[in-house]
Amino acid sequence: MNAPASTRPTGAAPAIIDRIRRNLVGLKMPRALEILDVTLRGIERGETTALEAIDLLLTEELTLRENRRVKMALIMARLSAVKTLAGFDFSFQPSLGRNRILALAPLDFVDRNEVIHFLGPPGTGKSHLATALGVEAVKAGRSVYFASLADIISALAKAEREGQLRERIRFLCRTSLLIVDEIGYLPVIPGGGNLFFQLVNARYERGARILTSNRGFAEWGEVFGDSVVATALLDRLLHHAVVIQIEGSSYRLRQHADLMPEHVRSKATINAPIPAHSPRRRGRPPKNGAPDHHPAG
Ligand code: ADP
Ligand code: MG
Repeated sequence: MNAPASTRPTGAAPAIIDRIRRNLVGLKMPRALEILDVTLRGIERGETTALEAIDLLLTEELTLRENRRVKMALIMARLSAVKTLAGFDFSFQPSLGRNRILALAPLDFVDRNEVIHFLGPPGTGKSHLATALGVEAVKAGRSVYFASLADIISALAKAEREGQLRERIRFLCRTSLLIVDEIGYLPVIPGGGNLFFQLVNARYERGARILTSNRGFAEWGEVFGDSVVATALLDRLLHHAVVIQIEGSSYRLRQHADLMPEHVRSKATINAPIPAHSPRRRGRPPKNGAPDHHPAG
């Protein structure tokens, strides 16, 4: 990483420069080390002040570290950074208030341990928005875990078979934000609803959650193959919850809309959520006076 001696700055005391270089190695600051010579030359030529040079070295190093941290955290969270809020075309989905979604980006919902539900037909951007909010949370230094409902249930079932269910649930409770994607697409395996309930119960009021579903809440009994489990799930998942319903057409099919049958093309609507004001077992009032549950208009 050292520059050839001939291109090194000559004005400053070589002993000091050598010590700076050694210190940068000792401090594991590869980016600062890489740009040291060019920065010193900038000082010599009067293009950079000493203050600007210190600022540049530290900023470049921090940027490198931050990029690495985000990259690793996205892998751990199983998130794709390709989906961002900036990359979402709000004009394609007019039912979705742009400001309402952007208001989630500061992540107050994570601090308040809220649940965000994205409901809507396939292709309307539910997974995109859930992922994009996860990416925002990772960038802000929060721990996130993203998985489909089917993957979560099969991991819980495997853990149960191996006598590791408590540990697996504890692992899924550790992140500040848990994103459960694709509720309702695949039939839940027998006993899966029960396993998912144990997770939801363990995470109740602990950490934020984002859920996406193509099915209305009234259909959860069918989705989980058990109306008692579905009611118990909704009881916990609609408390301190924000429901965002997307009523639009599929972004995936936007170029082929004229080829689609009318029932697919038409603006499919999901059943309105059932009221969530069930009596709380623990009798805790909503935090910060936040409404228990605000369905999208
Ligand atoms: P859903 O989860 O609702 O089925 P996705 O979020 O997976 O839909 O969206 C399907 C594809 O279309 C993804 O590649 C997503 O990035 C893209 N997409 C959906 N809606 C939009 C939008 N409004 N702007 C930009 N891309 C979108
Ligand atoms: Mg999806």
